[in-house]
Amino acid sequence: MKLSTVLLLSCIFAVSTAYVDYSGHKVLTVTPKSEKHLELLHELREKYSVDLWNEPRFVGAPVMTRLRPELIKPVEHLLKEQGLQYEVAYSNLQSAIEAERIQNAPTNFSRAEEYNFGKYHKYEVVVQLLKDLSEKYSTIAKLEVIGKSYENRPLYNMKISSGDSSAKPAILMECGIHAREWSSVAAGAYMVNKILTSYGSDSEITALVDKYEINIIVEINPDGYIFTWDQDRLWRKTRSRSSIDWLGVCRGADANRNFDIDHCGVGTSRKPCEEIYCGDKPFSESETRALRDMMIAKKDRLKVYFSIHAYSQYWMTPYGIKKTLPSNYDELIRVGKAGVDGLAKRYGTKFELGSIANIIYEAAGSSLDYIYEVLGVKMGFALELRDNGRFGFILPDKFILPMCEETWDGIKAAIEAL
Ligand SMILES: [Zn+2]
Repeated sequence: MKLSTVLLLSCIFAVSTAYVDYSGHKVLTVTPKSEKHLELLHELREKYSVDLWNEPRFVGAPVMTRLRPELIKPVEHLLKEQGLQYEVAYSNLQSAIEAERIQNAPTNFSRAEEYNFGKYHKYEVVVQLLKDLSEKYSTIAKLEVIGKSYENRPLYNMKISSGDSSAKPAILMECGIHAREWSSVAAGAYMVNKILTSYGSDSEITALVDKYEINIIVEINPDGYIFTWDQDRLWRKTRSRSSIDWLGVCRGADANRNFDIDHCGVGTSRKPCEEIYCGDKPFSESETRALRDMMIAKKDRLKVYFSIHAYSQYWMTPYGIKKTLPSNYDELIRVGKAGVDGLAKRYGTKFELGSIANIIYEAAGSSLDYIYEVLGVKMGFALELRDNGRFGFILPDKFILPMCEETWDGIKAAIEAL
């Protein structure tokens, strides 16, 4: 059977099953050694829908490549033929997903003290933590609802500040916009807890809470996150039904391609079935509208914005829309460098620093470019947390807490450098 026929059949099969089973899927960590190798990876994605977990961007940078069972033999043969080196990250992806499921089995969580920051948690548990913390630390914490998701779930922002915050400089952080990037949500929950439980005892954190209004949205895409737990571990988008979704089978848009900055431009797709689908109009997604409204309400006070993603270990500045560097790039790099250095201190984890378009790929419609270019908040970063290509989205339990700790170290250092 030709590869294209295999592809068509497996697509039809994929939309007809409820639970997405990755049995027999293999993930390779492929290291391109030439421009020709990079082209080959792009070609595999375009022609055969091979799922590249990170963008092939330069020679020597590993690319995690998921192969459906029927593609394993021909693609491995092709890679060998072309002299492309690879290692097997997951010989059977479903086994890794199931192992992760067991490691992160739901606990009988009832109080904030019992929350384990070394694990991933289901959405209800994360929300329960936020509610508990906002009650326990009610003098400095307020859990606000900033909007509703497509499936009508409240979207929460944890506002942390001592005293009246209405005139204070503000910080805004958004986590979980891409559903499968669980590390982002884990880090967001950790940071909320760390700040609230340290206020009054840790002098640095106390000073931050006294000086700033800190806003952390731990999960901006709850529908997608729940879907990754219950249906498809690799889901990235929201769960909306688009007006041009004529087949009725492909749901959601990439919320981080849905902001009104060069909408549907470079690095996006107008096809609803694709991972980087930009939505049929800017802010077509209720999640991005809620975030936008909050950005607008606070923009005059916002000193820094963070958009938290995983994985690849990058600390990125605007722009995503173009390779041209922003006018205050030196200042962005100065603060970013403080963040990267602060992050590396505890475990030596190295992050690469630079603009989105130069470090990862050109991508239009991101929250960071929108807030920077349209709203004029001139200090903001997008982070890609651990790791750099061994485990990808399925970061094992033992790395979760270290990842959270170092992320907070980095963000705190950046804020202190403002
Ligand atoms: Zn992401």
